[in-house]
This record gives sequence, C-alpha cells and structure tokens, in this order.
Amino acid sequence: MGIKKESDGIADHSLKNAEKRMKNIIYQKILDDTIANIKSNGYRPSLLLHACCAPCSSYVVEYLSSYFDITLFYYNPNISPAEEYEKRSEELSKLVREMRVTKNVNVLITPYTPKDFEDISKGLEHIPEGGARCFKCYRLRLEHAAKYAKEKGYDFFTTTLSISPHKDAGVLNGIGREVSEIYGIPYLFSDFKKKNGYKRSCELSMQYGLYRQNYCGCIYSKKEI
Ligand code: SF4
Repeated sequence: MGIKKESDGIADHSLKNAEKRMKNIIYQKILDDTIANIKSNGYRPSLLLHACCAPCSSYVVEYLSSYFDITLFYYNPNISPAEEYEKRSEELSKLVREMRVTKNVNVLITPYTPKDFEDISKGLEHIPEGGARCFKCYRLRLEHAAKYAKEKGYDFFTTTLSISPHKDAGVLNGIGREVSEIYGIPYLFSDFKKKNGYKRSCELSMQYGLYRQNYCGCIYSKKEI
C-alpha cells in the first residue's frame, strides 16, 4: 500500500483552493469572449492543444479549427501499457487524416515516457480516480504542453481533457492558469463538455469509427473497471 506524503497533502490543499476560486467561473463564457475578440481583430492564432485521445479531440477540433491553427499535442505518459499508448496515438492521427476540417490541424506525437507518470504518482497509487493522483496527472500534461508552447512560440495552449464528464473543469482551468503564469504563455480557458460537446464527441467517434477506450489511461484506472 502506498504512503501519502505531507507534500501531497499540501498539493491537494492548494488544488482544492484553486478549485474553490475557479468554481463560479463559466469557462465557456470566457472562451466565447476570447473567440469573439479573435474574430473582431481578424487574426488566426496558433493553439497547442494537448490531446488525450481521438474521441475527445474530435469535437474540440471541429469546434476550434474555425478560429485557430491547431497542433494536437499527444503527450500522455500516464497511459498504460505501451500498446495502448500506440493505439490511441494512431487513432488520433487517423482522425486528423479523415476529418474534413483539418487543413490547419497537425498532430505531434511525443515519445512514450511512462517514468514521467510513475514519478508523480508515487504514493498515490491507491487513490480512486478523480482524486489527488489525477490532479497531478493533469498538471504533468498541462505543464509539459505549456513549456513546449512557450518554447515554440504558440499564441495559446489548452487541453481536450475538460470534455470528459469525469474531469473537473475547475481544477483543470485552475492548473492551466497556474502554469500559464509560470511559463508566460496564454491558456485558453474552456469547458468543452458544454454546448453538448461530450455528446458531439460520441457522434463523431461513431462517424469516424474511432476506438473508444473503456478506462481513463493509467494502470490504476484500468484496475477500477
Ligand atoms: S485515472 Fe486518468 S487522470 Fe487519473 S491518474 Fe489515471 S490516467 Fe491520470
């Protein structure tokens, strides 16, 4: 059984506070305002979009590709085993090849680095899905995306993760804001499950015959099925 460290408690507390601060914010309204601003200024920003899988990316790409040049950034060291990592990455590439909205959409598949996830999940193996291990998992992926977006000069970064009914948009956007401030790269606030985003992602998954996994990604979530 894993031992919970004091520092993990501090991280939990900090994230809970971020969640409380952000809980009344309507992220879809912020996104609507950002898009209205982009349209009124007549420009097309670049967006590094962290992508967890093809089904979640389908609706987000359909929605945002009218306004942004998108790079789907597949960095998910939480996924286990390696074959599953490959399978999800191949589905993402297939989606981008087959969707009709892809003229300004590219995919960047990063190498599989499971140790990144092993390091941040130590001592949290026993925590159920939706708890402290997941918050660290979100942060790992968002922080990596923020660093890359800054290094390569993107205008914004964000993640597809908020489309899932199992993912808390308050926590995700709180982390997005924190790493945005640390790395100096604008975060695109969003809650993609709004506007029937999750429902639309299911429809698109059917349309493109996408593989829909039945567990979140890590070995611990697989054991919870
Ligand atoms: S359940 Fe999902 S979000 Fe939580 S740690 Fe595992 S892979 Fe990450």
